[in-house]
Amino acid sequence: MRREFKEYNYDWMIWSIIDNASKTHDGTDKEYRNLLSFAPHFKDVLDAIIRQGEPGILLLKALSAYIKDMFTAHEMGKKIALISYCFPPALLYAFDVVPLGLEVMTTLGSFIWKRGIWDYLDYCCEVGFTETSCTAQRGALGAYLAGLAVRPDFILCSTPGVCDTNANSFSFASAYLDIPFYQLNYPPTLTDERAIKYQREDFRHMIAFIEEQTGNKLDIDRLREVVEETAKQDELVCEIQDLQRLVPNPTPGIFALFVFGAKFALGGTKVCTKLLEAMLKRVKENAAKAVAGTSSGKERARGFCCYIEHFTTDLRFWTWMDKNSISYLGSGLDLFWQEGASYAKGRESEGYSVDTTNLDTMIDSLAVQAARMPMVKQIRGPYDRPGMWLDDVVGASKIFKADFVAYFGTMGCRNTWGMIKLLAKDTEKLGIPTVIMYSDSWDDRVASWGSITDRLDEFLTVRRIYK
Ligand code: SF4
Repeated sequence: MRREFKEYNYDWMIWSIIDNASKTHDGTDKEYRNLLSFAPHFKDVLDAIIRQGEPGILLLKALSAYIKDMFTAHEMGKKIALISYCFPPALLYAFDVVPLGLEVMTTLGSFIWKRGIWDYLDYCCEVGFTETSCTAQRGALGAYLAGLAVRPDFILCSTPGVCDTNANSFSFASAYLDIPFYQLNYPPTLTDERAIKYQREDFRHMIAFIEEQTGNKLDIDRLREVVEETAKQDELVCEIQDLQRLVPNPTPGIFALFVFGAKFALGGTKVCTKLLEAMLKRVKENAAKAVAGTSSGKERARGFCCYIEHFTTDLRFWTWMDKNSISYLGSGLDLFWQEGASYAKGRESEGYSVDTTNLDTMIDSLAVQAARMPMVKQIRGPYDRPGMWLDDVVGASKIFKADFVAYFGTMGCRNTWGMIKLLAKDTEKLGIPTVIMYSDSWDDRVASWGSITDRLDEFLTVRRIYK
């Protein structure tokens, strides 16, 4: 890793940028506009978020507090758990443990810095981790392996059985840094008795592990608080996604990022509820005016990503969609399968509900929720089995009235890359135009942003998707 990257800690650098960004709109709008011209290279991403008004400002302030909690946790007497994005953090907030979302930290670095996160990505390989692994973990992981960020106290991994490359990152981190590790394993099925029983027991063993690591028993009142907050958040997301079915879609495309970002980092907290309420208010205002959530207020096409989006510098994916007046409908990362979700209608057994009756029901609610997190639900088994990837993509595309579906990925994402051509054949047969973008969502060295937009534009034009 180059020397200049070792001068400051990764988490501190990300925090200082986001903290400053979160204060840019504390004055008047005129002051903010003037200030933008002095902002370094990340002014585009800053404006993409701030121009959403209250939700954008709330998101930046919440992220600033979230990251500061990480590197001040030990001073505050708190423990830190390194987790994957597909682990609901509410349980950790109930323990007063700081959830350190590895992919959240990778993504923040990736969209803030023009120089990208290449040095951190490559550092993992310098110390022996495979280059053909998922960059979602490998980005921030490089900083943690190099000691350029706070040291987590324990690791919770929720991907064995679902994504081997993800699970390997966490087990490598545990071995390399000598940090205690618990892995939730997922069977390839979801709704049968054996799978349900296994997941519940495994989740309880994990709680025992957290109790051992923290020296604290799970507090029922604190758990109730976060579980109730989770239920409110689930309802708000349902309402936002319900309104997204309107034509034109009144939801700003970047709200898809806000939804999963908030759920992955802040799920179960009051600030997450406040953020989602502000987003819903904004969507309802657009719906009342019958305008699309794009900057132009118009809708030339509606797009859905069958798995993840593209997260490099300046959130260019969202800006590009917005500039082309494409209503962005979200991705697999926005499908949480809570009760009441429009895409879960008729498939209730695949979803989950929140039950706060007693300690057991609350733990079960979180266990079932964890088993339905994005990726954990749909990539765990064969892509075309009931309730798996194909079903979820087709269901969401139809419900959200998508004109096209896009896939971003490489063979680093082994499970999805191995299935995507078959999935695309099936979706095409069902009349959903589907484009496969060979590109890495966190590393532009694989395919440049220019080549991505050329291909996307060609696809939308040749397939006559633009209205
Ligand atoms: S499924 Fe793909 S993108 Fe998701 S964690 Fe695994 S390798 Fe990364």
